[in-house]
Amino acid sequence: MSKVKSSETVKVVIRCRPLNRKEEAAAAGVTRTPGGVGGIVEMDMRLGQVVLWNPHGLPGEPGKTFTFDSVYDPSSKQRDLYDETVRPLIDSVLDGFNGTIFAYGQTGTGKTYTMQGVWLEPERRGVIPNAFEHVFTQISRSSADRQYLVRASYLEIYREEIRDLLDPNMHAPHVPNVHTHTHRTLELRESPESGVYVRDLTSCVCKSVKEIQELMNLGNQVRSVGATDMNEHSSRSHTLFLITVECSLPGPDGRQHIRVGRLNLVDLAGSERQAKTGVHGERLKEAAKINLSLSALGNVISALADGRSGHVPYRDSKLTRLLQDSLGGNAKTVMVATLGPAPQHYEETLTTLRYANRAKNIQNQPRVNEDPKDALLREFQKEIAWLRAQLSHREGRGKHRKEEGEEGWDGEGDEEGEEKVEKERMLQEGRLEEEKEAIREDGSLLAEEKQRLLGEKERMMGDLKKEWDATEQLTAKYKAMESKLLVGGKNIMDHTNEQQKTLEIRRQEIAEQSRREREIQQQVMVQDEETLELKETFSSLQQEVEAKTKKLKKLYAKLQCVKAEIQDVNDEHVRSRQELEQTQNQLTRELKFKYLIIENFIPLEEKNKIMNRLTFDPEEDQWKFTPLVPAERSGQFSQMKKRPASAVGYKRPISQYARVSLAMGAHSRYRAENIMFLELDMTHPTNVSLDHRPSEVGPNYNPYPTDNVPHRERAARVRMSRSWCQTPRAITSSTSTVSLATHSTATPTAAQ
Ligand code: ADP
Ligand code: MG
Repeated sequence: MSKVKSSETVKVVIRCRPLNRKEEAAAAGVTRTPGGVGGIVEMDMRLGQVVLWNPHGLPGEPGKTFTFDSVYDPSSKQRDLYDETVRPLIDSVLDGFNGTIFAYGQTGTGKTYTMQGVWLEPERRGVIPNAFEHVFTQISRSSADRQYLVRASYLEIYREEIRDLLDPNMHAPHVPNVHTHTHRTLELRESPESGVYVRDLTSCVCKSVKEIQELMNLGNQVRSVGATDMNEHSSRSHTLFLITVECSLPGPDGRQHIRVGRLNLVDLAGSERQAKTGVHGERLKEAAKINLSLSALGNVISALADGRSGHVPYRDSKLTRLLQDSLGGNAKTVMVATLGPAPQHYEETLTTLRYANRAKNIQNQPRVNEDPKDALLREFQKEIAWLRAQLSHREGRGKHRKEEGEEGWDGEGDEEGEEKVEKERMLQEGRLEEEKEAIREDGSLLAEEKQRLLGEKERMMGDLKKEWDATEQLTAKYKAMESKLLVGGKNIMDHTNEQQKTLEIRRQEIAEQSRREREIQQQVMVQDEETLELKETFSSLQQEVEAKTKKLKKLYAKLQCVKAEIQDVNDEHVRSRQELEQTQNQLTRELKFKYLIIENFIPLEEKNKIMNRLTFDPEEDQWKFTPLVPAERSGQFSQMKKRPASAVGYKRPISQYARVSLAMGAHSRYRAENIMFLELDMTHPTNVSLDHRPSEVGPNYNPYPTDNVPHRERAARVRMSRSWCQTPRAITSSTSTVSLATHSTATPTAAQ
C-alpha cells in the first residue's frame, strides 16, 4: 500500500512573540539588551538561527546559538509561517500523507495564537482556519475526475482522559446545561491498518469551510467549560483537531484509487514546570498527572532523537500514543516551538529551545496511504452506486409502463429533473383516472365486472403511489449522500479571481525560494568552517602563528560554550530529579496512608479476595476487577451467578443445621419448603416407610403417636414434602445419618 517511501526529519520552527504590555513596562528602564529592548532572544530569519542571552550571565558571556528549519521573530506575520512552513504540509495531506502540526512552549508564548489566532481578522488568523480554507480551496481547484470526502473530529486530553468535543450528547438540545453534563471518556485502540486511533470518536462529514468552522466552534464551547477559569483550563488540556481527507482518483491502471490523508492540528498545554507555579498537595498531584503527558512527550522525543535506545515510551501517556505516528512513524510533522522574549523566562525559553533542538533529529517515514480498507469514501461510493442503480431500475419500469424510449435515470436531481419527474407522475395518475372513468362509462360491462375492474385500477393507483413514495425517499437519500462528496472543480465556487490566484502562487514561490536560500546558507556556513583552514597557506611563520592563535581562540570559546552547556544540562538534570523525588515522596506518603487504612480496617479475607480479582490493564493503564463469571460463559446471563446445588432430596440449598433442626422438629423457620400445611392426605400415614431402622430404635417405638397432635402434623407435612422425591433415602451428612420422619426422641440412637 505504500507508494512513496522515504525518510525525513521532523521540521522544527521557532516563533517568538512580541513583549506584552507588562513585560514592556518592566523593561522600560532597561537599556538595550543583546536581544533587542528588554528581550533576550535574537533571531536571524535569513539563517534560521536563534541566539539566547543569559540575563544573569557574566559580561562577555556568549549567547547560546541554535539553528532550525526556520525561525519567526516577533514582527513576523501569521501568513509568513503558514506559507513557508504549513502550506507544503497541507498539500501533502491532500496527496494522501499523514500530517501533524503541533505547538509546544510555555503558557502565554503564543501556542493558541499560532494555531487559532484571531478568526475574525484575516491577517491574524492562525494555522487552523488557514488550513480549513486551504483544504477546500485546493479541492475546488483540483481536476474534475477526483472525488473528495472530508471529515473532522475534535478531542481534548484533560487529566489523562480523552474527551470527544463533538459528542452529539454534549450538544443535544435536551441537555439543559452543558456545564453540568459529564464528559464521556474515550479509549485508545491500535490497528495495523490505521495505527493508533480513538474508539467511538465522533467524526463529521464537512462540505465547506463554514461547516468545519462551525464544528470547531461547537467543540470550543464544550471545551471552555471544563474549569471555571478559562486560562487555567487552556493551560491544562491538550486539544487535537483531526481532519481526514479521502480522495478518489483514477490510477494509471484505469481504476479508481482512494488516498487518505490525516491532518492532526495539536495545541498542547503549557510546558512550564508546575513546581515553579508553587502548587502543593492535591494540586501538585493533579499537576503531576497533567504534566505527565508533556514529560512523556519529552522522553519520547529524547528516545527518538537519541536513536540508540531501542525502546520508545509511547505508552507512557495518551498524548504520546496519539502522536505515535507523528513522531518517528508514518507522518510528516511540523513542530512550532513558541518563545517569549522576556528575561524572567530565560530558563523555560532555554528548555523549549533544547527540546526543539532535539526534535530536529527525529526521523519519520511518511508514505501515501493508498486504498486502506477502512476508507469511508469507498462505502459512500458503493452506496451511491446502489441507490443510483435502484433509481434507474425504477425509472426503467416507469418508462416501460409509458412505452417511451428515453435514456436511463440521469441522477442529476436538478430542478428541471424534478419537474420532469413530477410531470411524469401526474401523467400516469391522469391516465389511470381516465381509464377508471372509461370503465365507469362503459355500458357494455356488467355491474359486477365494472366493480372488479374499478377495484383493480384502484389497487394499481395505490401501488403506483407507494412506488412513487419509495422513489422519492431513495432520491432524497441519494441526493443527501451525493452532496457530501466534493468533486474537484465543481462543488465549491472559487471566488478568487485570476489575479489573486497568481498572487497566491507568487507568494508560494517566494516562500519556497527563501526556504531554499536558508538551507543553502546553513550548508555554506557549515562548510566554511571546515574548508577555510584547509585552503590557508602561510607565507611566513609569524603569519601562521597568528592564524593558529586566532583559531585557537575560536576553538577555546567554543570549548567554553560546550562546557557551559554541559553544566547547564547537568543542573537541569539535577533539578528535574529533585522535582521527581519530591513528587515520589508525596506519592509514597499517600500510599502509606492508604496501606494503613487497608491494614487496619479491611479484613484480611476481604482484602485477599479483592487482590485475587484484580488485574492490570496496560491498554488503559488501570487496575480492573476480573468478572466473576468467566468470559467464555459471559453470554446473555453473564451477570447471573450459578445457583448452588441443593442437597439431595431438597429443592433448594439448605444448611446442615437447618436440616437437623427440621428433623428435630424445631422452629418452623428452618422449614425451607412446603411451609404451608395442606391437609390433603388424610389417610393414616402407616404405609409410609421411611428410612429408619426399628431394630435400632427399640421395640416400643411408635413413629406416629396419635396422642401427640403436633408431632403427627409434622410427620404428615414431612411426608408430603417427600412426595416429590424420587426415592426415599437416608440423607447422609458428615456428622450424622438422620431419617427424616424419625421421632425426635429416637434421633440420638438413630444417629449412631
Ligand atoms: P498559549 O496558548 O501559548 O498559552 P496564547 O496563544 O494564548 O498563549 O498567547 C498569549 C497572548 O499573547 C495572547 O494574548 C496573544 O494574543 C498574544 N500573542 C501570542 N503570540 C503573539 C504574536 N506572535 N503576535 C502578537 N501577539 C501574540
Ligand atoms: Mg493556549
